[in-house]
Order: sequence, then structure tokens, then C-alpha cells
Amino acid sequence: MTEPIKQFSCPRCGNKVEKSLKFFPFCSHHCKYSDLYGWLEGTYRISTHLSDDSHTAEKKPEEK
Ligand SMILES: [Zn+2]
Repeated sequence: MTEPIKQFSCPRCGNKVEKSLKFFPFCSHHCKYSDLYGWLEGTYRISTHLSDDSHTAEKKPEEK
């Protein structure tokens, strides 16, 4: 019996990806890292937004 080869597509750009690929499930390191950076950037923006409230306090080096 021959099992049907599953086709995976890059969640970033939709390109066909082989499961044996180094960057799986991404098609390339570009897609992998652009996704990662996108996620980090989103997290960063959230934290930036939250700290925007204390913007007038500027940086407090030795708060704790
Ligand atoms: Zn891709």
C-alpha cells in the first residue's frame, strides 16, 4: 500500500513544504523568522502599549 503523501503549506506564504524540510512547517528560514519576528513584535507592541500609561514616569532604573 502506498500512503498518500501529505502536502503541507507554509503558514507564512502558502508555499508547498516537505515535512523533511529543516524549516518545517515553514518553507524557508525567511518565513520561519518573519513569523517569529511578527509574533515578537506583536508582544512587544502590547507591552509598549501597556507601559505607555507610565510614559511620564520615563525610565525608573532602580524601581525595585
Ligand atoms: Zn513560506
